[in-house]
Amino acid sequence: MTKIPGLHHVTAISGPPQANVDFYAGTLKQRLVKKTVNFDAPDTYHLYYGDPAGSPGTILTFFPFAEAGPGRAGPGMASAYAYAIPKGDFDAMIDELSAGDSFPAAPVTRFGQRVLTLRDPDGAPVELVETEGATDRHGFHSVTLWERDPDPTARLLTEAFGYEVLGTERSPGGERLRLKAPGNDRANIIDIWRADNPTVPRPGKGTIHHIAFRAKTQEDQHHWQEALLKFGHRTTPVIDRQYFNAIYFREPGGVLFEIATDPPGFAVDEPVETMGSQLMLPPQHERLRARIEATLPKLKLPA
Ligand code: ZN
Repeated sequence: MTKIPGLHHVTAISGPPQANVDFYAGTLKQRLVKKTVNFDAPDTYHLYYGDPAGSPGTILTFFPFAEAGPGRAGPGMASAYAYAIPKGDFDAMIDELSAGDSFPAAPVTRFGQRVLTLRDPDGAPVELVETEGATDRHGFHSVTLWERDPDPTARLLTEAFGYEVLGTERSPGGERLRLKAPGNDRANIIDIWRADNPTVPRPGKGTIHHIAFRAKTQEDQHHWQEALLKFGHRTTPVIDRQYFNAIYFREPGGVLFEIATDPPGFAVDEPVETMGSQLMLPPQHERLRARIEATLPKLKLPA
């Protein structure tokens, strides 16, 4: 049986791009693995961060909209992404961040693991989870889905995707249900958060636009299109996103889910060594390059 191994990427909305680069590539030392444009609105960037190879399960992407108003997470949205930090590296990272200008709050314990929450320049929560077995700072530990009713989403994840329930934990303000994908791939945890007093969500900068699960092959993705139909979810047709193929659907609680293929990957249009250094455009926008380059603000990468 085909199973989902974990997350492929998370896509969020940010404010001005330079502050975003400074935080994710600078403070958090993620690699900018792709500098491209929003394929549907090529006058804005689409920035991809990840591990040095641009591996699935490490990819965080942003649509920086300079004019986006501040957003606020709430029911029906993904509300946080968490990086898995190696056990031996967690305290060093707290020291590093405290010495900089991130001022993290004290770590809390969640399902027996220490969790540190930072705020990115747009106020989005960035969680760092001390994780046994993590080998570097780049891979995701999990994302949190904020749901009014966790059950339908949990059912989709278990019955369709093959996730298993690890347990629930009460914390101030609500309850967290933890699910894990089978196997030991990175980014294999999904938390579903149910708040006692949910706020009204507002999309905008500092919020997550969608989360993408992995399909290791194109065949697996086709399998998911058909399998999801049986669960009452008609996905979009396969959309070519240059670095992966994508299908999308809205899960029962309202979060936009994507299933993205591992191939062809981020080295499809530039060498791994120099990924992220040049503005890459998909073939359909290449003829607009001069205009796009004149419109987009220049970005400076941290040394
Ligand atoms: Zn996506």
